[in-house]
Amino acid sequence: MAKALHNLINRKELIEERLREGKPMYTLSFYAYAHIGNPQVFRDHLYNVWEPLGVLGRVHVAQEGINAQITYPTESKEAWEATMKNISFLKEIRHNYAVEEKNLSFYKLTIKVRNKILADGLRDDTFDVTNKGRHLDAQEFNEKLEDKDTIIIDMRNHYEHEVGRFENAVTPDVDNFRDSLPYIEETILQSNQEKEVLLYCTGGIRCEKASAWFKHKGYNNVYQLEGGIIHYTHEAKTQGLVNKFKGKNFVFDHRLGERISEDILSTCHQCGSPCDDHTNCTNVGCNLLFIQCPSCAQDFNACCSDTCMEVITWPEEKQSIWRKKRKEDEAKSGLRNVFRKGRFPNNTE
Ligand SMILES: [Zn+2]
Ligand SMILES: [Zn+2]
Repeated sequence: MAKALHNLINRKELIEERLREGKPMYTLSFYAYAHIGNPQVFRDHLYNVWEPLGVLGRVHVAQEGINAQITYPTESKEAWEATMKNISFLKEIRHNYAVEEKNLSFYKLTIKVRNKILADGLRDDTFDVTNKGRHLDAQEFNEKLEDKDTIIIDMRNHYEHEVGRFENAVTPDVDNFRDSLPYIEETILQSNQEKEVLLYCTGGIRCEKASAWFKHKGYNNVYQLEGGIIHYTHEAKTQGLVNKFKGKNFVFDHRLGERISEDILSTCHQCGSPCDDHTNCTNVGCNLLFIQCPSCAQDFNACCSDTCMEVITWPEEKQSIWRKKRKEDEAKSGLRNVFRKGRFPNNTE
């Protein structure tokens, strides 16, 4: 039986199980750069202490540190925090708790050992990663946004800033962080050498790396939003500041986004009506990430296209052949990134 389908059935079962449990959960993200001698041992330790507490989520561990998006039952709060306090480089770090609490952010715990915690395509031994841009808190960031001589750069990917962003931000049309660095330098920084540059991302990790890289390349007036959009939103709320982020903050968990303001910045990729709900095509062999309104979800049977709509009606064997062919085509064209295919033209006719 095809693996993709098998996974989908598992996923559905897991989600249903989590829903039945119905435990109130906290959702958060955090990262830390550190020197981890043996990431595999560290990974196993985390799994052993977190799994019994009901922690779910996606975690990357590397020699350079940890990057985590997780959720855990509110009843485990003290015990979970104790596991963090036991690790010297995780003691003091900031936890970016989700703006909207929903119970279904993740359905299982995956901790992977990787070469890097952030795929940036950079060699860290070629520049000073600790020489970062100055961090701005929410109030300082708001003030800088008003400054006409400042360029605000959204360090996220096209499908992220499509549904939410700061007003006047430059939003590079890129698929991933690695591509964004040379693209931003060539199209924005080179022609604005004298200006101040203000970077922001979801939780801050991308700006930590990007700001150090841009400074290394000779751009000295680089600032970054402390803790990203998530921390900014919390600060704005607790300090009574105006939240200048419009729309939805895209997140990489099951929710795919959390609403910050009521503004709808994007449109349904199928009919062009205002909509900012991301979804994955229900045809598992496609799984395309795209924006679909409720009415198109009904018309297209939660699929991205007529083709996928037809494919899901076929017997499994025929679907399996279709998936294989599609994978081969993708490998040939090099377009294997699921999200890349999500870049639709804005057809609002
Ligand atoms: Zn639609
Ligand atoms: Zn599809």
